[in-house]
Amino acid sequence: MKLILLGAPGAGKGTQAERISERFQIPTISTGERLRAAMKEGTELGKRAQSYMESGALVPDEVVIGIIKEYLSSDSCKNGFILDGFPRSIPQAEALDAMGVELDAVLSIEVADEKIVERMSGRRVCTECGSTYHVIYTPTKVSGVCDKCGTELTIRKDDAPETVLSRLETYHSITEPLKEFYSEKGLLITVEGQEKLEDTSALVNAALSRFE
Ligand code: ADP
Ligand code: ZN
Repeated sequence: MKLILLGAPGAGKGTQAERISERFQIPTISTGERLRAAMKEGTELGKRAQSYMESGALVPDEVVIGIIKEYLSSDSCKNGFILDGFPRSIPQAEALDAMGVELDAVLSIEVADEKIVERMSGRRVCTECGSTYHVIYTPTKVSGVCDKCGTELTIRKDDAPETVLSRLETYHSITEPLKEFYSEKGLLITVEGQEKLEDTSALVNAALSRFE
């Protein structure tokens, strides 16, 4: 299965990607995670991405297209893959088409802006292993410490309230038009994000059952 996950920042794409990945035994690539890793390592790519990411803007198309190209040429994705956070603009979607990728579905997780703002304020991340938590919805066993690797959790710089608003604006103006782009191709599946993660997972499972 070749799947794209769409949705506003904080809509829960990453968590759902993890679950779909387990269920279908296919890898996920998150461009956001790749970029954060590059920033942490201080590579050229990371340096280039940093200012965009911290202000809540999109990183230039050619940068993320490069990441995806490299990834899709690797062996691990020959049985399928999930793209989390790519494409995020029409030119990125066109680049994916130009690579000859034939998608099975584009799953959009819908969450209202007010909910997003509320969620992002409680989000905590592990910079070591990439796990994401929420102080209310998905708390860790020990407060402030990653369940998986024991590292102290941090708040992403771009989760600051002002930045969240600008990321939402970017989402609506630049990313959301992809829904129409993929709907015209008959690929779009929409799922309403629920208060509880498990409930969203159930809807996602049902929506993807025909690919099993
Ligand atoms: P979220 O889904 O919560 O916004 P991500 O980890 O997907 O978080 O993305 C974080 C940031 O990384 C984005 O705000 C953007 O600056 C950058 N980024 C990730 N994917 C892309 C992409 N496909 N195109 C441009 N920028 C991207
Ligand atoms: Zn961790």
